[in-house]
Parts: sequence; structure tokens; C-alpha cells
Amino acid sequence: MIKSLLLAAFMLVPAGAQAEQLANKLFGAKSTGSQQDPMPIGSYAKGCGAGMVQLPESGPSWQAMRLSRGRNWGQPELVEFLMDLSRTAQDIGWNGLYVGDMSQPRGGPMTSGHASHQIGLDADIWQLPPKSLTLSRAEREKISSIPVRSADQRSVTKNWTSRHLALMKAAASDPRVDRIFVAAAVKIEMCKTATRKDKDWLQKIRPIEGHDTHFHVRLKCPKGARLCQTQKPTVAELSKGGDGCDATLQWWVTDYLNPPKPTKKPKDPPPRKRHPREYTMADLPNQCKDVLASR
Ligand SMILES: [Zn+2]
Repeated sequence: MIKSLLLAAFMLVPAGAQAEQLANKLFGAKSTGSQQDPMPIGSYAKGCGAGMVQLPESGPSWQAMRLSRGRNWGQPELVEFLMDLSRTAQDIGWNGLYVGDMSQPRGGPMTSGHASHQIGLDADIWQLPPKSLTLSRAEREKISSIPVRSADQRSVTKNWTSRHLALMKAAASDPRVDRIFVAAAVKIEMCKTATRKDKDWLQKIRPIEGHDTHFHVRLKCPKGARLCQTQKPTVAELSKGGDGCDATLQWWVTDYLNPPKPTKKPKDPPPRKRHPREYTMADLPNQCKDVLASR
């Protein structure tokens, strides 16, 4: 009896232990993409990426930064988009782009930082206009981007230029882009010169915490990517069909910074949401197991 119980327990351990291992440790340990057809699997903050490719570390109009992190990977659409945007950056008068974190080679939850960037369709782009596109690996670990948002979060800094605006407008006008995250003060600045014509691209510019030294581009699910989960609510829904230069944007520099005193007794706090760093494989779409196991 005891012997058979022990045997049963022993047989249960391997499967159970694997399900309990943290997904970010498993995905963080991979240094190559999976040999599969490209496919974003799941949602931006809960998923993984099959068949991902590397943004070359350097190109005629870009450099990938912080190479030690191994996060210059993405879906082929993202790599192509970044190359295109870096050429646009040259058209507006920059040398090109410094590209920050994209995804890990097989996506998935990250060992540090970001909740999203999991399916190979997110990329952070530095607000620092490149001075050189021949930085060494070591230099790319050392230099930092620059803040375009003030420390008090209320305005842009003197680093903000019309070229930054032109670059983000070009990015948001690209039909491949779903939305772009920036510090609220950056969007407020953009809204100052907005006209009716700007509605469609401004709608895609979304305020968020942080993002003072980079902007974050998120691509739509590519056509035919049946395992990719479209983000809801859409940017049109979030801004009720407008440009998003509204009270929900001003909230970031009013109530967000100076929360009004509660008039009623606070309700019980909502249950704590788990961070993707706590996810196990059981939390991710099933196909992510194949992505991990693939050559
Ligand atoms: Zn980001």
C-alpha cells in the first residue's frame, strides 16, 4: 500500500514540477528562436512567439541596444517594421534609431522588466537620437537614453523636438501599428498642435506610466495569425472614436498625480493581479509548450 502510494507520488512529480516551473525562467534560458513557422501565440502580456527572427545588431539605419539581454527578437513583421521606421527616422533628420527591448528569442514572460513584449510584436525605441551607428557592444551597454518627460511628469523636457513628433506620427500612421505607448505629458504636448486630420494617428498614441526615455510600439496581429489575440479594448473604443486628447488624458496630470481624498470608506482592495513573472507554463497558451520544446 505504502509502496504503491510512493510510486504514484513519484510518477506525478515530473509533470507537476514542470507545470510549476516559472515560465520566465524557461523562456529566459532560450538563446535561439524556435524552428517553426512564425506565429505570435496568445496575448501581448500572456503568450510566446514561434519562429521569431533577430533584428540584426547593427544596420545602415539602426543599432540594437543592450545586446547582453538577448531581446532583439521579434516576429518577421516587427523586424521589417523597425527597419522601415529607422529609414523614416533618417528622412526626418535623425541618423536612424536606437532600438531597445523587443522580445526574448521565443518570447514569453521576461525575467525582468516588462509585463508585455511576449509575442514578438512589441518594441521599445529610444528617445535619444543616435549620434553614432557604430557603437561597440560595450558602448551599447553603457550609454543611456534621454528623458523627454520632466521628472514631475507634467511636461516635456528640452530634449523633446519636432523631429520626435514627426517620428512618432510616422510610426502611428503605419497601418501595421496597433498603438504606441508614451508618457502622458508627451501626448499632451502632441495634442497642442492637433487638427481634425490628426485624429487617426493620435488615437493610436496612448498615455501610460514611465516611458520617459523611450516610446513603445505595438503592432497589430499580422494577417492570418490565427493564434494571435487582438487587444481589446481597441484604441478607437478607448478614445470613443476621437483623438484621445480628452479628460482621460488630463487625468494623468491631475488625479493620477494628486489623488482626490476618498469621500467614502474605501472598498476592499481588488484581489492582487499576478505579474507575468509569476506565470507557469499552465498559464500560457498550450502551443507555448511546443515553442519551448522545438529545436
Ligand atoms: Zn515597452
